[in-house]
Amino acid sequence: MAIREIRVHGDDILQKKARPVTNITPAIHTLLDDMLETMRAKDAVGLAAPQVGILRRIVVVEMEDDIFELINPEIIESDGSQTSNEACLSVPGKCGDIERPFEVTVRALDRHGEEYTVTVDEFLAAAFCHEIDHLEGEIFLDKATNIQFITNEQAEERRRIRKLRQGNRRARRLRK
Ligand SMILES: [Zn+2]
Repeated sequence: MAIREIRVHGDDILQKKARPVTNITPAIHTLLDDMLETMRAKDAVGLAAPQVGILRRIVVVEMEDDIFELINPEIIESDGSQTSNEACLSVPGKCGDIERPFEVTVRALDRHGEEYTVTVDEFLAAAFCHEIDHLEGEIFLDKATNIQFITNEQAEERRRIRKLRQGNRRARRLRK
């Protein structure tokens, strides 16, 4: 496993649409492992492949004991709304408010190529939407309001607090 370099705002790759994964090769497994390790090293909740320079439709999200590896994810249902205050490893120094669904159901493939469906709400729903937006070449800054400047220390602190706050919320996972 290896920690990969995070692409930051201004890098063209973050504005490009990622291509679907057609074949889950060992290189895809390595990418998933590296994305997890990179996300953990940065104490982040989620990461999308374009953020490490790979234009493929792959997202990882981790919250407590729940690790979601989403290959070719699609939001198939969404419900309600929430205002989500978000930041992004690719947009250092800024956070902002963005409207997200309160709950989303996402269909994706796991690393073995098995299709599964997962429903998440609140913070995780916003995290899924944020990461899936990256696959469309969109970053939260494009549609955020109330954009504020934050220091690296503040960014790290908010990631720690988010992870703790989410601790007692469980994702409802439907696998078939
Ligand atoms: Zn992001």
